[in-house]
Amino acid sequence: MENFPHTRLADTHCHLDFPDFDRDREEVVQRCQTEGIDFVINVGSSLKGCRDSVELAGKYAFIYASVGIHPHEADNFNQEIKTEVKRLAGADKVVAIGETGLDYYRNLSRPENQKALFISMISLAKELDLPLIIHNRQAQDDTLKLLKDSMPVKAVVHCFSGDEQFLKDCLDLGFFISFTCNLTYKKAQNLKNLAKITPLEKLFLETDAPFLPPEGWRGKRNEPIYVKKLAEELALLKGVSFEQIAEVTTQNARHFFNLT
Ligand SMILES: [Zn+2]
Repeated sequence: MENFPHTRLADTHCHLDFPDFDRDREEVVQRCQTEGIDFVINVGSSLKGCRDSVELAGKYAFIYASVGIHPHEADNFNQEIKTEVKRLAGADKVVAIGETGLDYYRNLSRPENQKALFISMISLAKELDLPLIIHNRQAQDDTLKLLKDSMPVKAVVHCFSGDEQFLKDCLDLGFFISFTCNLTYKKAQNLKNLAKITPLEKLFLETDAPFLPPEGWRGKRNEPIYVKKLAEELALLKGVSFEQIAEVTTQNARHFFNLT
């Protein structure tokens, strides 16, 4: 991948704590720096993930952490875990609560438990005055309902999926939208249409690495430097320059996560 020293891209959602990176985590982190990644937010999805995210943020200046519990973990959620997430949220460089939300696609935890967990994470974010990173998969109606009941909430809907009405409702509530490299897939026509109509000033970039590698890398492990592929795709879709996509989305994310 060629160097792009004049652009400043941010990966606002990845999981460098996952075992997929155990072999070469240090090299992946170094590649972010040599390839011009401005900052990375490592997102906790389990209690262990939260601890590891805080540790990564402590080790590298350009990595920040988010702490939260993923809906897949909802069946095991309890007050003790909430207390520990709250404690971790007070650590240095923790900039958000998440990822959290609802996943009715894989339904690895019972929907009632997912909702209870989501409500608990929303209230934690409000209590600590931190933004929320939301995971929604085939649960857009309940996701919206729970968020509407808790407004005002500052949130980004990560790895955006859903229909146009859901997108409009999220934008009306003032939420940010982040797309992942699945936007580059040839069959992602619906997603491409949604990205086109999302105002640039409401967008962030993310990889969700190790998941969802861009077209051309499918079946391989994703990593933060591939936000470049996503920025290229968005530039094409929106008819603006790569530099403009990089500049605006990185600035949006800096403000949203309150990075200095
Ligand atoms: Zn994720």
